Amino acid sequence: MTIQIRPQAISDLKVREFQMLIDGQWTAGAEGKTIERLAPSHGVLVSRYQSATKADAERAIAAARKAFDFGPWPKMTGGERSNILLKAADLIAQRSDELAYLDAIEAGKPISQCRGELGGAVDIWRYAAALARNLHGESYNTLGEGTMGVVLREAIGVVSIITPWNFPFLIVGQKLPFALAAGCTAVVKPSELTSGSTLLLGEILMEAGVPEGVVNIIVGTGAEVGAVMTSHPDVDMVSFTGSTAVGRLTMTNAAQTLKKVSLELGGKNPQIVFPDANLDEFIDAAVFGAWFNAGECCNAGSRLILHKDIARDVTARIAELSAKVKVGDPLDPSTQVGAIITPQHLEKIEAYVSAASEGGVTVSHAGGTLDLGMGQYMAPTILSGVTRDMAVAKEEVFGPVLSVLTFETLDEAIQIANAVDYGLSAGVWSSNFDTCMTIGRRVRAGTIWMNTFMDGTPELPFGGYRQSGLGRELGKHAVEDYTETKTLNMHIGSRTGWWMPR
Ligand code: NAD
Repeated sequence: MTIQIRPQAISDLKVREFQMLIDGQWTAGAEGKTIERLAPSHGVLVSRYQSATKADAERAIAAARKAFDFGPWPKMTGGERSNILLKAADLIAQRSDELAYLDAIEAGKPISQCRGELGGAVDIWRYAAALARNLHGESYNTLGEGTMGVVLREAIGVVSIITPWNFPFLIVGQKLPFALAAGCTAVVKPSELTSGSTLLLGEILMEAGVPEGVVNIIVGTGAEVGAVMTSHPDVDMVSFTGSTAVGRLTMTNAAQTLKKVSLELGGKNPQIVFPDANLDEFIDAAVFGAWFNAGECCNAGSRLILHKDIARDVTARIAELSAKVKVGDPLDPSTQVGAIITPQHLEKIEAYVSAASEGGVTVSHAGGTLDLGMGQYMAPTILSGVTRDMAVAKEEVFGPVLSVLTFETLDEAIQIANAVDYGLSAGVWSSNFDTCMTIGRRVRAGTIWMNTFMDGTPELPFGGYRQSGLGRELGKHAVEDYTETKTLNMHIGSRTGWWMPR
């Protein structure tokens, strides 16, 4: 039986009002419309944001353009930008309780997890600050007596940054500090469901010394605001994290003016498990990989590919441990799995489980929907006997639903792992080095975890193959992504004439 923790009293929750940040000013939207956010955990109003219109988005883009073309930010030294990013990191750390609370209450994520994410975000901002001092091009002094080449790295310009609701503060941190480190200016649009912590970041950046117009933060729907941000001719690059469907739309919009596009999209990430693995370690990682963030995680280990000899026993042990996972009020520090983001999303998850069950799949640990008297919750749900043609084997459910498939040979495991449109991450569990390396080389995904799952650090690049995205974030090249390359081809001495022989 999953432990269910009752949400705390509604009266404890306060409504917070937010404006948007354009050209260094906190402002209402042109039409004075607002977006209201109900806490997914409690079903009550907790945040009210000013809702941007197309005109507001254009104003924000104009401010970012002006700040890039005429402002001090791109002309500062890397060291000066680095110091401001370090100050921002310190301020984020100082306000991390407030930021974590906003993410917990708007996204329904457990508060303890949010605190961990804030720590991770601070680390990323500091890493980006370090890279700001180290951005450089190349020189070629080996091209002959008369030629020298210098390759410059220049900030690409105005970047539109669009983020999803599942890791509101962490994901903007995978983009914005690197864009700023390069000398870019930005228009940021968080998800309209979880904009609070990103708006608070605006206050932090201004206090840290980021000049006016360098970072503009607007809230609005994708159809109205996101569409302008991805198509406007004054935007040079779009950095998007979200669903594959909207990523595709983003690329189409950006194609009209041939903008650079960076996409971090969905996943259907397998964990392949061999009988010689340390199964105690794996079972813990399976439970973490599937239920962390209520499975609303691009990296969720939502597909287990188990060797048939261990499948029954391992599935039973995962079910046993899953039953101990604490699902409930995100504000309770002992909660491990919080609320589902919206009632509509819960319905979508339930529809996947019902269709699988009607298709003959065994719901071996039927956590299902939980009624805690407010908000929307779902307990861990394990589907076994899944075959590779089923929707729950191929599509991103984005909820606490784990699909279990089986294999007999290593080649078959690799085929199953690669038989989806996604390629974000994968895990392999075996004590045999050759097995791990073979899987590591042949599974087509941006990250392969070996005998671990969902570890991460700013030094290691992250991103997807195929329909999981385009480009990589983090890692030592993360700042370069926000630059253009310019070649200076220089001549020394007199040229050999083309028309007039010399
Ligand atoms: P979503 O695609 O619905 O929305 C993402 C963002 O795009 C939001 O800010 C939204 O307002 C905006 N948007 C919507 N329509 C738009 C349009 N027409 N033009 C421009 N912007 C538009 O995704 P979501 O539901 O917020 O997030 C869940 C998805 O994000 C999942 O698929 C998940 O896998 C993915 N994700 C990927 C990563 C990664 O790093 N690969 C990380 C987190 C989430």
